[in-house]
Amino acid sequence: MTKKPSAVSELLHHRARSLSKGDPISLPIMASTTFLLPGDPDGSHFYGRNGNPTVETVEAEIGLLENAETVLFPSGMAAIAAVFHTVLRPGDKVLVHADGYYNVRALLNEYFVPRGVAVETCPTADMAEADMSGCRLVMIETPSNPGLDVCDIAAVADRAKSAGALLVADNTTATPLCQQPLDLGADIVLMADTKAMAGHSDVLCGHVASRDTSLMNQVRGYRRLGGAIVSPFDAYLLHRGLETLELRVSRANQNALTLANFLSSHPSVQSVRYPGLPRDASHAVAARQMRDFGPIVSFTLKDRETAEKFISNNALIVPATSFGGVHTSAECRVRWGDQVTDGFIRLACGIEPSEDLVMSAENALREIGPV
Ligand code: PLP
Repeated sequence: MTKKPSAVSELLHHRARSLSKGDPISLPIMASTTFLLPGDPDGSHFYGRNGNPTVETVEAEIGLLENAETVLFPSGMAAIAAVFHTVLRPGDKVLVHADGYYNVRALLNEYFVPRGVAVETCPTADMAEADMSGCRLVMIETPSNPGLDVCDIAAVADRAKSAGALLVADNTTATPLCQQPLDLGADIVLMADTKAMAGHSDVLCGHVASRDTSLMNQVRGYRRLGGAIVSPFDAYLLHRGLETLELRVSRANQNALTLANFLSSHPSVQSVRYPGLPRDASHAVAARQMRDFGPIVSFTLKDRETAEKFISNNALIVPATSFGGVHTSAECRVRWGDQVTDGFIRLACGIEPSEDLVMSAENALREIGPV
C-alpha cells in the first residue's frame, strides 16, 4: 500500500495543490468584506462575516493537523466562548478544570452562572475519577497551565460519554503535533492559536475543531451571528506561523526537556514539573497519550524575591506572560492569583539553542547564590 505524507507535509503543500499557472505561491490576504454578488446567493463568497478565502485556507490547514473540521476565532477565549454559547443552556451543568487557564472559569462564573448554568471544578489530575453525573459539558486542559498536571484523556472521554456529557479539550499547551484529543475520544478540541500555532507573539487567534458535523455547523452559525471573525491579516500571520510549526515545536520541546533536567539537578531549585521527566507525577499518563511533552517547564525557587531575581538575572528570559513564542519567557504565576507557591515560575521555552538556555539559567542561579 502507498504510504501517505504526514499532516505537516500535507499542510505545507496544501495551497500549491490548487494553484494554476501564474498564481502566487504564498497565501494572498483577501482584505475585502464584500464580494461580487449579482442575482441570488449561490454559495459563493458574498460578505466577510459569512466567509473569507484567506481565513478558509487557514481553517483547512489546521483541519489537516486536527483531522477534523476547523473554525477559526479571533482569540483562544473567543473559541472557548463560542463552544460554551453553542452548547450550554440554562439548567445545564459544567465540570471544568480547577487548575487550567483561569479565565475559562472566570468566563463561566461571570457570564454563564448568572444565566442558570451550574459550574463545578475538579483538579486535572483527578478528572478521570470525577463525578460527571448530570453534566452537559466537561472541559479539560492537559497538560494544565501552569501546574502541568495531566489527565488520561481516553479515560475522561469514556466517563463523560457514560454521563451523557460532551468532552471539550483545550490542547493549547500540547498542540496537535504532540497530542490528538479527538483520537482519544474528545468531542471537541480547541486552542489558543495565539501561542505555538501562530508562534511569534504577534497575533491573537484560536480555533475549534470537531468530527461532529452538526456541532461544527452550530459553532460556525454562532460565529456568523456573534460576529467573532478573525481578520484575513491575522489569519495570514497564523498561516505564516503554521508553516514552521513543526520546527519550532520540536526545538521548544527539546529546550524544555533539557532545562527541566538541568533545573532538577540544581540545589537551589526546590521542585520541577515537566511531563517529559520520567520521575514526574504526570509522566506515565503523558507518555501514553503524548508524542512529545510541550514547551513549558514549571519550577519552584525559595520565595517570590528569589524567583523574580532569577527572571531578571537571566539574559535569555523575557519577563512576560504567555507561551509558545520564539523567545523564552517566564513569570511568577502567583501574580495572576493561580493556586501556586510564591516562588513558582512558569518558564515557556522559545527556540534558542538549548545549550544557551542552560548556560543562561546556570548564570542566573549563580548570581542569586546559595539559597
Ligand atoms: N487556553 C489556554 C491554555 C491559555 O493559556 C490561554 C491564554 O493564555 C487561552 C486559552 C486563551 O487564549 P487567548 O489569550 O488567545 O484568548
